[in-house]
Amino acid sequence: MYVKSQFKRLRLRSKMKKILLIQTGGTIAMSAKGEGVELDPEAWSEHLYEQIPKLEELAEIHTYPLFFEDSSDLNASHWDNLTRCIDSNYESYDGFVILHGTDTMAYTASALSFTLKNLSKPVIFTGSQVPLSSIRSDARRNLINSIEMATTSLQDVAICFNDHVYKGNRSTKLSIGDFDAFGSPNHPLLAEIGLNIELNTTPEMILPPFEVQPGFDNRVFVITAHPSLNPEYLHCLDLKKLRSVIIRTFGSGNFPIKGALSLLPFIEKCTSEGVTVVIVSQADYDSVDLTKYPAGRAALKAGAISGKDMTLEAALTKLMWLQAHSESRDDLEHQFVRDLAGELTEL
Ligand code: ASP
Repeated sequence: MYVKSQFKRLRLRSKMKKILLIQTGGTIAMSAKGEGVELDPEAWSEHLYEQIPKLEELAEIHTYPLFFEDSSDLNASHWDNLTRCIDSNYESYDGFVILHGTDTMAYTASALSFTLKNLSKPVIFTGSQVPLSSIRSDARRNLINSIEMATTSLQDVAICFNDHVYKGNRSTKLSIGDFDAFGSPNHPLLAEIGLNIELNTTPEMILPPFEVQPGFDNRVFVITAHPSLNPEYLHCLDLKKLRSVIIRTFGSGNFPIKGALSLLPFIEKCTSEGVTVVIVSQADYDSVDLTKYPAGRAALKAGAISGKDMTLEAALTKLMWLQAHSESRDDLEHQFVRDLAGELTEL
């Protein structure tokens, strides 16, 4: 009897997908500490390894502890690390699940959508709002859903959270406390997880070979326009140290253009000194349109370019990536307004 069930398990395993579970930290890997939570490597491995036998009903899982951080401490060097980790394990696995803090998950997912080219396998980010070690955690469900998603035919970098699967470079963290923490305002869900998984994408049968292009250049600065913003502060910036600025404007690309509070002289100064100016919106839904209002038209005339319907996360990581990979400012600006990895809607 034992031999028989063992044999059945082996047979099942041979058909099972192989998934690499990469750990990077985040709340999912934390434990309760006083009033709050804190990263806790030892308790975390225990809790994770308790889950593995159950999860192995879905796939053959290997774990890879890459780093262990609150995601607010992650930066471009971690994005490169993750890229290299996936690259060196690409042929050995059918899919990848990355456990990650929710705070900057959308930045990392966006960054990887540019470094991993011609993906033919799923790369699924997940985490949780409550640590796996807590009884009321959302971690177990997110983990199960993500492993399951990583066994599908998805060929993209995605975020799987609370039964929803979002395109990574279209997603953003929308809630601090809700289990339904993410959204992709300008892109439909890639999948919904209920009794079954409903995939809303069809795989490409013929793809160019997979390749990676790590590398980011962080000489970019994000400015939020707000009523009464004093442009003098912006004029203090040392533009020689920057290659681009992103201005988070109002609505479809509006910002003050009258009198001493006008931001136009700053935009003109940037573009004339060789700094790319990208206009994105503080509103999550729909697209920047620089032809609609006088401010947008003036920005266009001054040489600014539109972030269209990109999230801030996608616009920032795309700029950082392009700064490391384009030949000139013209080339960078030309590529920035194009769809490179499904991060914007080309109208
Ligand atoms: N501060 C945590 C992080 O991003 C929040 C979370 O994981 O939900 O690492």
